[in-house]
Amino acid sequence: HVHLGIVMQRTFAMLKPDAVEKMGQILKLIIENGFKVTKLKMVQMTKEHALEFYAEHKGKPFLPFLVEYMTSGPVIAMELLAENGVAKWRELLGPTDSEQARKDAPGSIRARFGKDKSLNAAHGSDSCISAERELNIFFPMSRIAQYESPRSTATF
Ligand code: ADP
Ligand code: MG
Repeated sequence: HVHLGIVMQRTFAMLKPDAVEKMGQILKLIIENGFKVTKLKMVQMTKEHALEFYAEHKGKPFLPFLVEYMTSGPVIAMELLAENGVAKWRELLGPTDSEQARKDAPGSIRARFGKDKSLNAAHGSDSCISAERELNIFFPMSRIAQYESPRSTATF
């Protein structure tokens, strides 16, 4: 069938531990910028979980600190849906380094809520392939099926 050329894309977003206390303001920004929050949960990552999530950075000098940071408190994991969602979320996030972001993208989330190049408040998938991998880590299909089945058979 004919459609209008609007491609809705899902992406994986995460509020890192230092940004969780600012979740109200950040979620408001996300929604005002036209994203639909289609999944959301607060979780405490384990070291193994963080190493799996950041597998692409294996061997990098900042990885041990990054794992420490990501496991220092709970994070908020989200699936966001929007037209051109992957790039749109990276745009609202701003550059990796919050100090750079304050110069180049002052309205961005990393500029407003992050500290520097490591403590930068939030994460965003860098491609559709990364988004699928990252969403599967935080929102695996089997878990969803487990949530649905007890509800459909429960008696109240
Ligand atoms: P992004 O999160 O913008 O995709 P990367 O994938 O390159 O950036 O890095 C993952 C995370 O690792 C960053 O968000 C940041 O928290 C941390 N990080 C990246 N580069 C550095 C660095 N040079 N020094 C310290 N921490 C870094
Ligand atoms: Mg990245």
